[in-house]
Amino acid sequence: FKVPAIENEPMRGYAPGSEERRALEAALAQMESELPFEVPCIVNGKPVKTGKLAKQPIPSDHARHLCTYHEADQATVAAAIEGALAAKAEWESMPWPDRAAIFLKAADLASGKYRYKLLAATILGQGKNAWQAEIDAAAELSDFLRFGVKYVEDLYSQQPPKNTKGSWNRVEYRALEGFVLAVSPFNFTAIGGNLPGTPALVGNTVVWKPSPAATYSNYIVYKVFEEAGVPPGVIQFVPGPPAEVVAQAISHPDFAALHFTGSTFVFKKLWKDIAANVDVYKSYPRIVGETGGKNFHLIHSSAEIKNAVMQTIRGAFEYQGQKCSALSRAYISSSVWNAGFKEQLLEEVAKLKVGPPQDFSNFIGPVIGRPAFDKITDYIKKAKEAGGEILIGGGGDDSKGYFVQPTVILTKDPKSITMKEEIFGPVLTIYVYEDSDFEKTLELIDTTTSYALTGSIFAQDRRALLQATNKLRNAAGNVYYNEKCTGAVVGQQPFGGARASGTNDKAGSMAIFYRFVSARSIKENF
Ligand code: GLU
Repeated sequence: FKVPAIENEPMRGYAPGSEERRALEAALAQMESELPFEVPCIVNGKPVKTGKLAKQPIPSDHARHLCTYHEADQATVAAAIEGALAAKAEWESMPWPDRAAIFLKAADLASGKYRYKLLAATILGQGKNAWQAEIDAAAELSDFLRFGVKYVEDLYSQQPPKNTKGSWNRVEYRALEGFVLAVSPFNFTAIGGNLPGTPALVGNTVVWKPSPAATYSNYIVYKVFEEAGVPPGVIQFVPGPPAEVVAQAISHPDFAALHFTGSTFVFKKLWKDIAANVDVYKSYPRIVGETGGKNFHLIHSSAEIKNAVMQTIRGAFEYQGQKCSALSRAYISSSVWNAGFKEQLLEEVAKLKVGPPQDFSNFIGPVIGRPAFDKITDYIKKAKEAGGEILIGGGGDDSKGYFVQPTVILTKDPKSITMKEEIFGPVLTIYVYEDSDFEKTLELIDTTTSYALTGSIFAQDRRALLQATNKLRNAAGNVYYNEKCTGAVVGQQPFGGARASGTNDKAGSMAIFYRFVSARSIKENF
């Protein structure tokens, strides 16, 4: 059999007066009238209400909350793990076309019947505007599932190229022995679906701990999996106190893999904890993680200014800079800076409206919560203290929601704090370099931070593109020419970085599926 031809999910435009705008507005109004929702844990397909309640606040209006959820306690996590182990044999032995069909159906449900509900939950709960929610919860989520099916089919067809006469060599791609732990972030509903989805596609069973700040949208994703036919126990939904749930899962002897997206700090801690438990496990666990970034735009003297300005604004400020891939340090040629880049940038940033994302005219929504608001505004303060000049923005208002103005800082010190450390907010720091210092600037980009996720080079001069690409060989896992450094598309740009940014196993590609299988070679003599 052959899976149907896979296409990227077409994105909807939400123009005023359009049918999709009306449908999304209706879904938002309905969700606002019904909230707060109650979210249980789901173990073996059954809701578990532990009574240990926590809230997911609405970041644009923190007096309200989107849902109250039952936090998994120890007994619930233990039951989830045992249930995942028990469900494994049947799931893994389900014929591949049937497993594939379940995920293709899940993609159709996510992009069809549940599209506006997923978008509304992402808009209200995670503070994305409609277009950012569309990229994420509609398009990328279904792309991960559909292309996942294609990649697994390709993976299964990877067989040894050689057989000697009278024998046949084949490779069987088994699921890992044990269960997979998926720990997903708040910033992409699609990653919420992908972290359990990827290992489950190749026959693993998964204990999934969603981010507290994305509980409701992730719960809807769970319901999509369920309706599509993922059997009970294959994906266990266990929201809960992150440190406790994760510590319990990674100390289990059958822990087989971690599929993680989140902060570098937490990932390193988990790596050490897993190392400390190595004698407990049956197998060496696979550790797959996508973490932080300190992503750059390099703007060469030959760059086309208007495009570089617009891409810079989008890279830095879409979704309030809360993407691992977001732009946060820009190195701009002094001739470009003085030939209009500065004026155009400030003029365009001044137009960005800040406010609740349910209002479609707002470009900038809230940051995710109180700790994020405090951290981001503190970085702005520190940058000022270190001599940075705030060209625009710099303020925040947390009276109703966690709003931070889009902020552009100009620094004379290319190694100043906001050129170096990840902020995860709408803050862009700019260093203007002399055109004659292009080579030195490449060195700076490469050595200023420990991250290596994404980066963009803006130049019309092909030699400059080449020189930068060669010198920055290890500075980013995703490189763009004349385009912003965010927005990798599943099936088009495999996504991930190395150094402190992750294990670079490339989400949205065949490569990542290898991490969740354990191959068995079989030689048969006739
Ligand atoms: N894949 C997303 C992008 O390219 C970023 C994902 C993330 O923030 O983890 O923008």
